[in-house]
Amino acid sequence: MIEIRNLHKSFGSLQVLNGIDLSLEKGKVLVIIGPSGSGKTTLLRCLNLLETPDAGSLKLGEASIEFDGRRKIDKQQVLKLRQSTGMVFQSYNLFPHKTALENVMEAQIVVQKRDKNAARKRSLELLAKVGLSGKEDSYPHQLSGGQQQRVGIARALATDPEVMLFDEPTSALDPELVGEVLKVMKELAAEGMTMVVVTHEMKFAEEAADTVVLMDGGVILEQGPPQKVLQNPSSERASQFLNLLT
Ligand code: ATP
Repeated sequence: MIEIRNLHKSFGSLQVLNGIDLSLEKGKVLVIIGPSGSGKTTLLRCLNLLETPDAGSLKLGEASIEFDGRRKIDKQQVLKLRQSTGMVFQSYNLFPHKTALENVMEAQIVVQKRDKNAARKRSLELLAKVGLSGKEDSYPHQLSGGQQQRVGIARALATDPEVMLFDEPTSALDPELVGEVLKVMKELAAEGMTMVVVTHEMKFAEEAADTVVLMDGGVILEQGPPQKVLQNPSSERASQFLNLLT
């Protein structure tokens, strides 16, 4: 489903991704952890081209792109890639002047050209799925952070992506609201959704990930099943980072 080869990305003189190789099969959950500034968010944003890699290659669903700073990227491939992914942001990024229902309907109507009734029906189903029946007509400011983030998840699901990308989806939430968002994510994982999740929630990584990737300084330090990476890492640097979290 996802294959990343030798991915590089710099911001000016700052090398943020320095040769990332990764693959993920359909229906699996990949959790990316690592210290602040290690490149986790940048890697995730490269997966739907919110950031454009400088070099390397990326296959995701039907899309296949080689990056070479000098060559323009094929627009068709970019479109395919974007249509295959749904993104959930740390700060929800909902339209403040649209209701929960309208937020979930928006991309279906604008991007997918779905008819309004079909979009409405699908949005109501998705809001129910994330536990927000009855909140359809609420505006973001009338919802808690956890509820807003669940609208964010429903919105990302609305275009039927093959892969869901989560960028620290619970980092902005009060601790008591984290659980309701992780519960929805675990349900999605159990249903077989392919997911890439950047998070500091180690319990989620332990329980929901098929593979954990630990990044440091723009490279992958450790990669493997959660029990291996979290409890028995092979490098001293990884142990140090994990010890800091406990
Ligand atoms: P955190 O856990 O703090 O979110 P991270 O591992 O997700 O960190 P990134 O957000 O990928 O790290 O950032 C990696 C480095 O790249 C940081 O030094 C950051 O300041 C820098 N960076 C990220 N985006 C940009 C940008 N658009 N322009 C310039 N520098 C950037």
